[in-house]
Amino acid sequence: STVNPLLQVNELSKGFMGIRAVDNFSFAVPHGTVVGIIGPNGAGKTTVFNLISKLYKPDNGRIYLGGQDITDFKPYQANQIGIARTFQNIRLLGNLTVLENVMVTLGTRATYTMVDVILHRRSFQKIEAERLQLANELLKRVGLLHRCNHKASALSYGEQRRLEIVRALATNPKILLMDEPVAGMNRSEKDDLAEFIKSIVSEGVSVLLIEHDMGFVMSICDTIIVLNYGKKIAEGSPALVRQNEEVIEAYLGKN
Ligand code: ATP
Repeated sequence: STVNPLLQVNELSKGFMGIRAVDNFSFAVPHGTVVGIIGPNGAGKTTVFNLISKLYKPDNGRIYLGGQDITDFKPYQANQIGIARTFQNIRLLGNLTVLENVMVTLGTRATYTMVDVILHRRSFQKIEAERLQLANELLKRVGLLHRCNHKASALSYGEQRRLEIVRALATNPKILLMDEPVAGMNRSEKDDLAEFIKSIVSEGVSVLLIEHDMGFVMSICDTIIVLNYGKKIAEGSPALVRQNEEVIEAYLGKN
């Protein structure tokens, strides 16, 4: 529905041996928006991503996507229902080419292929040709098409981060979780990525991102949520959050 948020997280908690990494945290990502989570190191941001992508089970709280309770889903089910993510530490298949990295991810849609072949009487060749075209289009949009036959390990850091984003998008997500997307990127790469994120959002993908680069966060996010010791200490528009005393004290003041 367009009224309910795409992602709804209610009273989420997760502890590790006495540490409350995420503490009674509630928030939402409305359709067609970019929401940023900021906060000091160890605030619990990555743990929130691990909970939403179902790598961790929460101690408490519920997670809904499109109104469906996904709290007890496995990671592959979360991906199937439309949650994709990138990691702080890049995870690519370094010995495969750039194009192969994307094709492998598109290949995980094999079940859809069987449905297409059996129900819609479409040929494997046609489906493979479409996959190749989709991979090429995605790579073109992030400026990586000219690199498609290079090994992933030969790419620059910024290029590897963009390839990771393409791989996540290749799973056709409703929401993309990005963990520090501009870390290690230069100015022009950051600007290009901001434009790219805006374009995928306009095409219906919502974005939840963790980022330490305040300039980037402030320019791209509709809403910013500030975490500190696992708790939400502020939430609102970039302009509002920037002026929040508690936020300045806990986080922005240190920058
Ligand atoms: P950063 O900005 O440095 O990435 P963060 O906000 O993402 O930090 P988390 O990585 O979520 O913070 O960590 C929150 C707290 O939970 C930290 O104290 C961390 O040590 C702890 N923690 C996270 N994952 C685990 C784990 N698997 N086992 C034990 N403790 C963990």
